[in-house]
Amino acid sequence: METSLKVLFVEDSEADAELTTAELVRGGFRPEIHRVETRDELESALESSWDLIICDYRLPRFSAEEALATLKRSGQDIPFIITSGAVQAEQTVSLLKQGAHDFMDKFALARLIPAIERELREAEIRRKRRKAEERVRVLSRAVEQSPVSVVITDPQGNIEYVNPRFEQLTGYTFNEASGRNLGFTLLDQESASAMAELWSTVSSGREWSGEFCSAKRDGQLLWEQVSVSPLTDADGQITHYVVIKEDVTVRRSYEEQLLRQAHYDQLTGLANRVLMLDRLNVALESANRNHHKCALLVIDLDHFKNVNDSLGHSIGDNLLKESAGRLTGCIRGGDTLVRMGGDEFVVILPKIDTARDAQQVAEKIVQQFERPFTIIGKNYRVTASVGIAFYPDDGKNPHLVLRNADLAMYKAKDLGRNQYHFFTEDINRQLIERLELEERLRRVVELNELMLHYQPIYALADGRLAGFEALVRWRQPDGSLWAPGQFIGLAEEIGMIQAIDTWVMRTACRETAPWLTASSGRLRLALNISPHQLQVPGFSTQVEEQLAANGISPEQLELEVTERVLVNDASETHANIEALCRLGVRLSIDDFGTGYSSLGYLQNYPFHTLKIDRSFVSNIGVNTNTARLIDTIITMGHGLGMEVVGEGIESDTERQFLRAHGCDLAQGYLFSRPVPLEQLRFSVEQDLKLVAEDAADPGQ
Ligand code: C2E
Ligand code: MG
Ligand code: MG
Repeated sequence: METSLKVLFVEDSEADAELTTAELVRGGFRPEIHRVETRDELESALESSWDLIICDYRLPRFSAEEALATLKRSGQDIPFIITSGAVQAEQTVSLLKQGAHDFMDKFALARLIPAIERELREAEIRRKRRKAEERVRVLSRAVEQSPVSVVITDPQGNIEYVNPRFEQLTGYTFNEASGRNLGFTLLDQESASAMAELWSTVSSGREWSGEFCSAKRDGQLLWEQVSVSPLTDADGQITHYVVIKEDVTVRRSYEEQLLRQAHYDQLTGLANRVLMLDRLNVALESANRNHHKCALLVIDLDHFKNVNDSLGHSIGDNLLKESAGRLTGCIRGGDTLVRMGGDEFVVILPKIDTARDAQQVAEKIVQQFERPFTIIGKNYRVTASVGIAFYPDDGKNPHLVLRNADLAMYKAKDLGRNQYHFFTEDINRQLIERLELEERLRRVVELNELMLHYQPIYALADGRLAGFEALVRWRQPDGSLWAPGQFIGLAEEIGMIQAIDTWVMRTACRETAPWLTASSGRLRLALNISPHQLQVPGFSTQVEEQLAANGISPEQLELEVTERVLVNDASETHANIEALCRLGVRLSIDDFGTGYSSLGYLQNYPFHTLKIDRSFVSNIGVNTNTARLIDTIITMGHGLGMEVVGEGIESDTERQFLRAHGCDLAQGYLFSRPVPLEQLRFSVEQDLKLVAEDAADPGQ
């Protein structure tokens, strides 16, 4: 097969060039030729690539020496063969020294073909070597200038090479590092054992990567992501290890900081809730394995909120820090002290032999807080309440143990604070009962378990029925009825009070509307409204709707609120009270005298009725001061244009006293207990009949 060959002739004789070309063709080449005679021509020809230059030794306007120099300048490596007539041996040597590859007689070209073949081969070898050298140069430059540390060790792990980045980062020069073992900068035991794992991996020919903590020459910490690869020779023998190390100190310290923030409380430096759960899990697992008990103590500072609110957060913070210090003094090495948040702390005792061990810690804690805290020269007294629960006796999982220790702590608070309390099944039962009660109360309207009793209200002057007050009852599964005192508080706590009051208003309006309308505006329905209700925007609209739906005129509805409402200054309350007055509904102040308000308060509110609380009424005839007080209340109530009702009248003495002092209306067991609607029917219908008779016979 013919080999194509690009040949550049530096030759003045076209005939000579053709002769040589013919020789090439004979030798099996397919030459592509170009002939130049001057330097300029050669220079421009060298802009393209050639396999071979055949140069005449003697040229009229150029020379082989000059041609060689031109080729050198061009930077190209092209086999250069000189042809000539007879030449001196010294000239030959000199030309070969100048870079010519071969020299032969123009007229004896037998050597030409083998020479060309050899030169082409050698040129190829030279080209490959140049490429390889270039690659090595680039690689070594890359290693030298690498932004990561590169270390090369011998098979024993002794350092043979470190790059400048290594020197710069660790502070050790090549001379200092050279010959030492790769791990010579390692700091801790953990890294040292990772190093053992590293060697066992890489010596079996695999790569290894991981993180190490080192010390720089100046002692500073350095975290590095390290990867180590073995280098093998042609026989597969490990000759070196290449170690690439990247500085990850910033990332590591950031991670550590995050880890700290995630696990420790900023203020006290104690473990936080997250770490607590972790430690608790570990403690419970070990208790399971080794069949021992753990104890959990929940500690809450008593009335700490008062300190914070009245003395400010900075004193509060100081107090918490000092508390943390005192608590630390109560525990031992393996125990964990946690700040759960606010003023709540937890102690985990991972291994106790008897309940007495935990009790001793709790005793110590309570004692610690009996000493006052001195903050900026002042003394503050803050005591602590502690709840104790055990694993596995009081809970089978961490959450249960924690919850039960918490309940025990609340029990300690209930019993007067500044003490500890163990969790007991009793506490648990109370809680479960309360939760069940809550659950039933949430569904009370839906399950239709509420009903109303009505207590009639009479005019003291003539004993005629003036109206009735609706009082809610909750029917229990055993058929008994619960009075509001047994569930209104809880309903307020769990946000059910509005639903209950709304049900009461709708039901009472619907049930009594026929009597109210039949009485031509004379009888009144009184409803108790919780302070929450008055904070509901648009409450007056609800009232208006109920009145309209049942055809009741507004002045026949009296809404009773307690003094709590007056003290509470919410703007929504004001807006609702004003809207209700505009609507024409009557407002009544219930249980007057038991709250914080004074008659002064009443001046600012448009109340129509004042109900003197039963606690005053039942003192009539017992305490002369009370009698005077009631007299004053009645007089001032009248002075403010209000009607006055006496509540809870049980005896005729009370009735007569109130009547004699001008009290307008009366309500109490003396007249009637609160009764179901049907039982009220008789009194109301009796009254309506009397009224009708009065109307028929006005002379009476
Ligand atoms: P209140 O509005 O002052 O109602 C009068 C309470 O005194 C009623 O208790 C009534 O049964 C009781 N009582 C009446 N006369 C006498 C008496 O001669 N002697 C004695 N010892 N007690 C008498 P009840 O029904 O247990 O209601 C207690 C409180 O619960 C009510 O006090 C009222 O503040 C509240 N309440 C009642 N129903 C509702 C309601 O539907 N919604 C709201 N938010 N509170 C209600
Ligand atoms: Mg009332
Ligand atoms: Mg009352």
